[in-house]
Amino acid sequence: MQDSYGRKINYLRISITDLCNLRCKYCMPEEGIPKVCHENILTIEEIEEVVKAFVSLGINKIRITGGEPLVRNGVLDIVQRIGKLDGIKDLAMTTNGILLKEQAHDLKLAGLNRVNISLDTLDEDKYAYITGRRKLKDVLDGIQAARKEGLQPIKINTVLVGGFNDDEIEDFVRLTEKQDIDIRFIELMPIGNAIDLESKYYVSNQLVLDKVPELAEVERDDISSPAIYYRLPNGKGRVGIINPISCKFCEYCNRIRLTAQGKLKLCLHSNEEIDLKESLRSGQDIKKIILNAIEKKPESHKLESGQYVHKNMYQIGG
Ligand code: SAM
Ligand code: SF4
Repeated sequence: MQDSYGRKINYLRISITDLCNLRCKYCMPEEGIPKVCHENILTIEEIEEVVKAFVSLGINKIRITGGEPLVRNGVLDIVQRIGKLDGIKDLAMTTNGILLKEQAHDLKLAGLNRVNISLDTLDEDKYAYITGRRKLKDVLDGIQAARKEGLQPIKINTVLVGGFNDDEIEDFVRLTEKQDIDIRFIELMPIGNAIDLESKYYVSNQLVLDKVPELAEVERDDISSPAIYYRLPNGKGRVGIINPISCKFCEYCNRIRLTAQGKLKLCLHSNEEIDLKESLRSGQDIKKIILNAIEKKPESHKLESGQYVHKNMYQIGG
């Protein structure tokens, strides 16, 4: 599939649930979330049908996300159904890692290739503060379980929050010295709950390079990846920086998103959504609808002019 700006769209990020077992301050309200009626969430069979349509149109890279994907009943079934589709080259998942210790083995057997694990701090108290739950050990065990099962390369996603974890940049970077693991620093984005937080706590990823000047840029292997990678001298793993705010990567964007409620989003930062669930349930030609939609993928986000998305990340699928 190609959009009207000539970008080849081959990457689908699919959220399989709005629910989560954490309450990260920049993503989900502490008091919990409005309950979404079960009927409004795509069933496992519908997910399979929509993904089949996408794959037949040229999607070959899929990431399962959420909410927290590992709390969805039937997550293994979903992985298995997607993993066996002809044409998928890469099936990955973004998770907070808490349930990975129990599920890594079965996920690998079901056909998952690799995981990105979100972790903003290495300190138990700070972890409890930012996520609302005292679960750091479970995440660290989950990372080891993913490694043991070969869900690799393992990438750790760390959202930089000013005054909270910018003092841990060096500690995170040092993890890549002896371990074959990628640490990726992500700038806090003004989405939903985080619109106010971003204006107060945003720090540019440039801080990573300022704090660890010995990091050297490594050659890019994938131009569509939003991460620019660096390495410590003789470091085993890499350090990625993802700068959606300070340095746009829209020109190379190859991705689209499907929410747990079956809404197609052509850009993370656009409020426009195309309801594929309704089209599917009313028997319309879903491939035609997808192809028409791709034509409308925006050229770039407009964050710099204050055009924000009001849903939270957990509702979109980060
Ligand atoms: N629950 C899973 C997890 O935390 O990995 C998957 C969904 S979560 C929404 C996906 C990613 O989005 C996480 O790495 C999270 O840190 C990131 N995220 C959420 N809100 C964000 C924001 N406002 N700015 C930047 N990243 C954000
Ligand atoms: Fe849950 Fe992930 Fe959002 Fe944290 S970032 S509240 S783990 S969905």
